Amino acid sequence: MSDTVVLSGAKLFDKREFEPEMDEEFDRFCENDLKPLATEALKHSELSEEIFDESVRIFQKFGAHTFAIPQEYGGQQIPARMMTSFTRKVCGVPGAADLGLSVGAGNSLFNAPLFNFGSEELKKQLAPELLSGKDGCFAQTEGEAGSHVTGIRARAILGQDGIWRITGTKRFITGGWKANYALVLAISDPLMHQANEDTGMTVFVVDCDNERVRGTLDTSKNEHKIGLTHSPTTEMIFNETPAFATLGPLHDGYRKVNLTTLGDSRGTVIAGQAVGIGESAYREAFAYAKERKAFGESIYEKHAIKDGLLLDMETRNRIMWALTLQSCTLKDAFPKGDSRPYEAQASLAKLVSGEYVRKVATKGLQVHGGNGYICDYPIGRILNDSYITAIYEGTSQIQSMLVARKFLQVFQSGALNAETEEVIRIWPFAEYNFEDINGWENLATEMGVLERRARFLSDLNSIAFSGKFPVENFKNLPAPYFAITEAFGALEGATIISAGRHYGAEEFSDVSDEVVRRAFAIVDGEFEQLESTYLR
Ligand SMILES: Cc1cc2nc3c(=O)[nH]c(=O)nc-3n(C[C@H](O)[C@H](O)[C@H](O)COP(=O)(O)OP(=O)(O)OC[C@H]3O[C@@H](n4cnc5c(N)ncnc54)[C@H](O)[C@@H]3O)c2cc1C
Repeated sequence: MSDTVVLSGAKLFDKREFEPEMDEEFDRFCENDLKPLATEALKHSELSEEIFDESVRIFQKFGAHTFAIPQEYGGQQIPARMMTSFTRKVCGVPGAADLGLSVGAGNSLFNAPLFNFGSEELKKQLAPELLSGKDGCFAQTEGEAGSHVTGIRARAILGQDGIWRITGTKRFITGGWKANYALVLAISDPLMHQANEDTGMTVFVVDCDNERVRGTLDTSKNEHKIGLTHSPTTEMIFNETPAFATLGPLHDGYRKVNLTTLGDSRGTVIAGQAVGIGESAYREAFAYAKERKAFGESIYEKHAIKDGLLLDMETRNRIMWALTLQSCTLKDAFPKGDSRPYEAQASLAKLVSGEYVRKVATKGLQVHGGNGYICDYPIGRILNDSYITAIYEGTSQIQSMLVARKFLQVFQSGALNAETEEVIRIWPFAEYNFEDINGWENLATEMGVLERRARFLSDLNSIAFSGKFPVENFKNLPAPYFAITEAFGALEGATIISAGRHYGAEEFSDVSDEVVRRAFAIVDGEFEQLESTYLR
C-alpha cells in the first residue's frame, strides 16, 4: 500500500485547472491501494468485516472522506465532476464497486446534505469528527416505502424535554452497520402528512454510537445480497431513539433535504459508478478475448467479438460517461443545495447508465464463454454489482417518469418559445470545439455520422432539458461535452416518453393523442433505426 496522498484543499478548490493532476492521483490510488484489496475481496463471496474495515481505512487514508466537506470546515470539497471521476475510476477496478461505498455514501448522502442544510452550530460540531474518520449514513427507505418514500411509517415525537425521539425500522441502509451518525427521515407532523404526503416529515440526526450502547438502536442485521458483497446493507431499528439535531426545515425535510440530496447524487456519483462498472466489464472482456484462442486464433479477432460484443460495450460505456459528464457539468454550474435546474439531466444520466451497464456486463460475461459462468473470473461479480445502479437512489422506472414529465411539458407547451429558441441558438453542434477535450475527438467523429439524422431529436432534447432554465446560466457553462451527448440523450429521450407513459399511467393520462403519436413516431422511426445501426 502506498503512503497517504495528501491532496491540498487549495489545489482542489480550483475547479478545472487541476483536474488532470487529480485524475492522476486517483489512478495511483486505484492501482496501488485499491487493486490489491479488490483482488483479495474477490476471493470472498460473503461480507468480510476485515475487508470492509480495510476498505474504509484506505479510502480515509487517501482523504476521500473529506471530498464533500467544504474548505471552510477543514475539508477539501471537490466538484461533482471530480467526485464522479473518482467514483468511476474506483468502480473501474474489477471487484471494487463495493469497496469504499460506505465512504462514498457518507460523502454524498451524509456530508453533502449536512453542509448544505445543517445549522452553523451543527456543522462546526460535526466537521472535526467527520474529518477524523467518523462517518454517517442516510436512512430513508423502509420495508414498505422505497420508491414510494412518502409512505414511510417511522414516527418522531417531541418530548416534554424538547427532544425528538424516533421509532420505526429503516431497511437497506448502506453503511448503517457501523455508521457513527445517521440522517433519518421520519413523520414529525402526522396531520400535515395526512393532508399532503410530501410534507409533515423531518430529517433527524442521530448519534448511532451512543444509541447502540444505550440500546435504542439496533444495526446488527446486514442483508445477504447478490452483489456489492463488501458494502454492508443494514436494517436499522429505532426504538424511541433520541435525535440530537434536525436538518433543513422542520416538517419539510423530504422535499427540501431528501429530494435535493438524491437529485445531486444519482446523476453524478451513481451514474459514475455505473460507468466504472461498465468499464471494468470491458477491461475484463477485452483482456480475456485477447488471451483466449479458438479456431486457431484469439477470439478477439472474430468479427462477432471485436466488432460485435466489445464494440457495443465500449460504445455504451462512452454514452454513459458522456451523459454523466453532462449531468456533472450542470451540477457544478448551479448553486449548491439546489438540484432542480438539472434534475431531468441527472435522471437521464442515471437511467441510461443504470440500464446500459447491465447490458455491458452481460455482454462481457458472454465474451468469457463458459468461464464467465465460473466464479474464478470477476465478470460474474461485475454483472451482479451492475444491477444495483438501476435500483438505488430511484429505480429506472421512476427516472423514466421524471424525464418523461420534462419531455411532455415541452411537447404540451408547443415546444418552441423565445427562450428555448435562444437556448438552441447558443447550442448548435457546429460551434463546439471538440479539441478542448483529450480523447473525445474520435467520439465526435463518430457522432458526425449520426448528427444529421439525430439533429431533430437532439433539438427536442435541448428544449426539454434547457427550456425552463435561464439562458444566462447556459452562457457561462463550459459546454463542449454537450454536443457529443445531446443526440444520444435525445434518442434515449424518445424511448423514455413511451416508457414514462407505460409506467406512470396516471401522470400521462391527460396527454393528448397527438403528443403520444409524435412521441411514438420518434421511437418507432428514428430511434430504433439508429439503435439498430449503431448498437448491436
Ligand atoms: C444495496 C442497496 C443499498 C441501498 N442503500 C440505501 C441507503 O443507503 N439509504 C436508503 O434510504 N435506501 C437505500 N436503498 C434502498 C433503495 O433506494 C430502494 O430499494 C429503491 O428505491 C427501490 O425501492 P423498493 O426496494 O421499495 O422497490 P419498490 O418501490 O417496491 O419497487 C419495486 C418495482 O416497482 C417499480 N415501481 C415502483 N413504483 C413505481 C411506479 N410509480 N411506476 C412504475 N414502476 C414503479 C420499481 O421501479 C421496481 O421495479 C438501498 C437498496 C439496496 C438494494
